[in-house]
Amino acid sequence: MYYQVEEQDGYYRIGSPENVFCYLFVGSKQAALIDTGHGFGNLEQTVRSVTDKPLVIINTHGHCDHTGGNAQFEEVCYIGEKDIALCQEHSEAAMRRDNAKRAENSMNFETGETYNGLPEGFNLEEYCSRGTGTLQTVSEGTVFDLGGITLKIYETPGHTQGGISVLYLEKNILFVGDATGMFVWLFAKETTDLTTYVEAVQKMYDLNAVSYIGAHNPNPMKKEQLLRYIRAAKEADYDAGEPFESFFGKEYEPRVCALDHMTMAEMFHPDFASVVIGKDKRK
Ligand SMILES: [Zn+2]
Repeated sequence: MYYQVEEQDGYYRIGSPENVFCYLFVGSKQAALIDTGHGFGNLEQTVRSVTDKPLVIINTHGHCDHTGGNAQFEEVCYIGEKDIALCQEHSEAAMRRDNAKRAENSMNFETGETYNGLPEGFNLEEYCSRGTGTLQTVSEGTVFDLGGITLKIYETPGHTQGGISVLYLEKNILFVGDATGMFVWLFAKETTDLTTYVEAVQKMYDLNAVSYIGAHNPNPMKKEQLLRYIRAAKEADYDAGEPFESFFGKEYEPRVCALDHMTMAEMFHPDFASVVIGKDKRK
């Protein structure tokens, strides 16, 4: 099967060759899905193989690899207001076409081998004609009571201006999307300044969650790691950074600014922490 559903502690993790994870929660009254990936495969069918409860969809931010599957669902997709235009832009046919092409030549970073990340029978024209899904804005403090599972929204801008994180109250786990991590992209036009990012990570830290779970890494982050991410942003020096080949935002000439003079070659070291910033964030 294209999507792999793995039961975790009180929720489900949905993985796929799209290199992004979606998270599914099933309460006694309703279910919730955090992010919809690129939506190359049939995510709706995957979700419905787990639960037939009424569904709430939450997009952590507007990027195509988090909202691309929205339109497979009839349900409303909640998103931060400042990311609506971004989601629309990332749902356009040209960007979808580029993403599908890139997925067809996906790279396994550990082996260096390429593979086709698209599912069998993928229909490119249908995929490119999809819209954003039905978007509705959500803001700080909104609570979704699923019945025995409560999700609370926190605004965590930085990676995008309208980025949100979702706190699973009963387990005290914060789902952060791309809002922080050891390799956070802060160089596109939709990113904020570094101060706003630092404040958001500090806010996540102050929530005192047991763990922090991102969208591209199955390993939960611990609170202490967030301090390193904050320091990486505070100490970031564009001029000393390592140039980063990106498929988008090239005009910003992004560079990886890692803590303690580490390089991208050391990315899999447990202490690696960095921000990827553009030349506009030069001090
Ligand atoms: Zn993103």
